[in-house]
Amino acid sequence: MIQIKGIAASQGISFAKAYFFNNPKLEVLEKKIVNTSEELLKLDSAIELSRRELKLIKEKTSEMIGNDKVNIFEAHLLILEDEEYIETVKTDIISKEINAEYALKETSDMFIHMFESMNNKYMKERASDIKDVSKRIIAHLLGVSLPNPSLINEKVIIVANDLTPSQVAQLNHKYIKGFVTNIGGKNSHSSIISRQLGIPAVVGTNNITSIIKNGDFLIVDGTAGIVEINPNNEILKKYKEKKEILKKEKENLYKLSLLKTETEDNKKIILSSNIGTLKDLQEVKKNGSEGIGLYRTEFLYMTKGELPTEEEQFNIYKQILLNMKNKSVVVRTLDIGGDKRVPYLGYPNEMNPFLGCRAIRLCLKEKNIFKTQLRALIRASIYGKLCIMFPMISTLTELREAKKIFEEQKIILKKQGYKIAENIEIGAMIEVPSAAILSDFFSKEVDFISIGTNDLIQYTMAADRMNENVSYLYQPYNPAVFRLIDFIIKSAHNENKWVGICGEMASDPIAIPILVGMGIDELSMTSTSILKVRKHIKKLKFSEMKNLSKKI
Ligand code: PEP
Ligand code: MG
Repeated sequence: MIQIKGIAASQGISFAKAYFFNNPKLEVLEKKIVNTSEELLKLDSAIELSRRELKLIKEKTSEMIGNDKVNIFEAHLLILEDEEYIETVKTDIISKEINAEYALKETSDMFIHMFESMNNKYMKERASDIKDVSKRIIAHLLGVSLPNPSLINEKVIIVANDLTPSQVAQLNHKYIKGFVTNIGGKNSHSSIISRQLGIPAVVGTNNITSIIKNGDFLIVDGTAGIVEINPNNEILKKYKEKKEILKKEKENLYKLSLLKTETEDNKKIILSSNIGTLKDLQEVKKNGSEGIGLYRTEFLYMTKGELPTEEEQFNIYKQILLNMKNKSVVVRTLDIGGDKRVPYLGYPNEMNPFLGCRAIRLCLKEKNIFKTQLRALIRASIYGKLCIMFPMISTLTELREAKKIFEEQKIILKKQGYKIAENIEIGAMIEVPSAAILSDFFSKEVDFISIGTNDLIQYTMAADRMNENVSYLYQPYNPAVFRLIDFIIKSAHNENKWVGICGEMASDPIAIPILVGMGIDELSMTSTSILKVRKHIKKLKFSEMKNLSKKI
């Protein structure tokens, strides 16, 4: 019976067995082999096991997130059939009289090196596919199993050193009841997605993987940031009661779902949702959201292993706009880089990925990717009330260049005969201090501003939002952060532009009175937070909050 404290990343309480999601170390040593035919049989059997496993993963992934997301596993299956690859391994086993895993590693390394050194992005992608496949076969040769959440078919809590945002996005709700990790911060994208999926999570525990054993019974309290390992009956009872109370509170909140959001003295605030996939629309409806304030489109690019086509994107944007009827939908153009990597684009690892080729910087380099997304968006614009915003804008030049590409695509599409809405709003995310300090200038050149506080805090405080060792410096309430937010709101209002916040601060009960007092127009958050925030705002007086924010 042990209790571990970490960072409360996603609210809720869950109980289940621990499932380790750590990649085992695959140590491959060269060995001389006398009986090479036995070694060849070993190889065949490892390939067959890998094939069966990949087919199963493909099936499960397709059930969970749709058929179009399984190309990556198809590519892996094809590698297993590749005669040149497999025959080279076999020839090496026979001619060099070496063990199968060593021969496989040598051959794979040779192909990986060959593909990596090609200038073509598609070919570079193949290198990472071969890495994955060879790892799977080697694991079977060594008799160890690789963890795979899509194969889990009982209720578990995942225990890992870390989980990437795309791994979290693919967790199956039905079986994955929570997760705990050694590293990570409250505002890492993995934590944000776990909140969106409603999966309780505790991150940043430092060393939980060395304390928990596979199969231990766990309680994850994502509200308090606590993990109980093999608790006794008394503790279990306490958490069951707490879970029941949280459930009742949630049911009571649903009564507010049809109401507008206003303070006691009638100042209206729009409460919108942050979404990452179409699936999130269910919670948007259930929680009486007044619009979509942030659609993080990058998950379209991260779960499939290749770029989404214009047509695929168009269909998704159209569905979201139709679903939201006349409520506004703010779509953020591709924001990858930082903790969201897209390996198939072939970008090298960076020393400081959060300060590197991220978001709009990447889109202005890879103009074809950017244009395809803008075309899909512009074509979908006739189905609802579309707003487009550009992430991580640092300079006016970037904003102007992005707007220019948008205008050019509009003209091209019109010439091609497409109908286009006349009122697409264009906004900038202000999440870099340089843009915040010049927000009076930015406000003149956009229709709206959305403040990305998650990044604005990390860049203002120079504290990586992913790093639990500097989480003490990641300070949403630092006066420097409030001063910047206040200036951005005033700047936008001076130009008669609306301004929202789509970072996690938008649902923070301590920050909300101050943001309301500063005159924020919209707060956008995980759908499941909306009713709680509505309840909170209804109890506030705008006049009093104005004074409070001045004081702050
Ligand atoms: C932000 O930075 O506040 C934001 C909403 O964007 P993301 O969290 O996706 O970086
Ligand atoms: Mg951001």
